[in-house]
Amino acid sequence: MFIAKGECVAFPTETVYGLGANVFDVTAVKKIFEAKGRPSDNPLIVHIAHDSELALLAQRIPDVAHEFIQKFFPGPLTLVLPKSKFVPSIVSAGLNSVAVRMPSHSVAQAFLRAAGVSIAAPSANLSGKPSATSWRAVKEDLDGKISCILKGDDSPIGLESTVVDCTGKVPLVLRTGAISLEQLQAVHARTALANPKKTAAPKSPGMKYTHYAPTATVVLIDSVDEIRRATKKSAYIGLSMPSPALHFQKICMSLEEYAQSLFSFFRDADAAGVTHIYCECVPEQGIGRALMDRLRKASSRL
Ligand code: AMP
Ligand code: MG
Repeated sequence: MFIAKGECVAFPTETVYGLGANVFDVTAVKKIFEAKGRPSDNPLIVHIAHDSELALLAQRIPDVAHEFIQKFFPGPLTLVLPKSKFVPSIVSAGLNSVAVRMPSHSVAQAFLRAAGVSIAAPSANLSGKPSATSWRAVKEDLDGKISCILKGDDSPIGLESTVVDCTGKVPLVLRTGAISLEQLQAVHARTALANPKKTAAPKSPGMKYTHYAPTATVVLIDSVDEIRRATKKSAYIGLSMPSPALHFQKICMSLEEYAQSLFSFFRDADAAGVTHIYCECVPEQGIGRALMDRLRKASSRL
């Protein structure tokens, strides 16, 4: 098995594809950073198949984290916990915390069980590119650089996991995702969104990097009426129907479909030589908050 040999393996999850290696094998984890061109101060998420793995990864797990685990594991939620001494500092980028997630995807679970060890894994894309939501996107970015791609369907959620920091006085959402702020607050009412200026910088160094950005310019619009001078090199994605239709467009039937197809749409638009991608803004609730976060990052309008 590739993991036992110290190699990296790309695998499907319900959020995006991950690029994994044995969390305790520093040489293997280094290969992830090399393949992606990922800066070393951007920590990785540790993926687990069983709760029992937490004992080796984290220590003094707060009660609130246990509540979130009970409610949302397995699923698209990552918890930041106090790190145990067994997790190499390359994984946490020198932080004294560790991010842990238990994916619900059947192939991810089978892979983790077969590996028999916790797996450190960021998204399986070149650093700075939109996360890979299909095995084809993984191949496009990492072919020749990694040993194995486990092929699965396109990622059903399509946006990265919600990241909640459980090391402070109140749980703080460092990254929005499919588990919404409202769902977290139903478990722990004081859960809050981190203020990116105050908290995210020291707490989550990776968040400072431009993520999710296609090569084309992303233009956020509140209404399709704002699309002007559309050319054959313009694209549109959103819930409403633009009139006249654009040469390259995707009309989504729901917020979930919009989220699921966003990153693959960005990649397809780049491949088609599109110069401008118009993206319709959505209300900031439920997964709409995560979608708007990725749209703002892609348009650099933070
Ligand atoms: P990716 O899987 O590529 O989305 O990258 C994982 C992201 O998880 C990083 O960019 C960080 O923002 C976040 N993360 C991982 N470990 C930690 C940690 N110990 N503290 C805070 N955020 C973390
Ligand atoms: Mg990533």
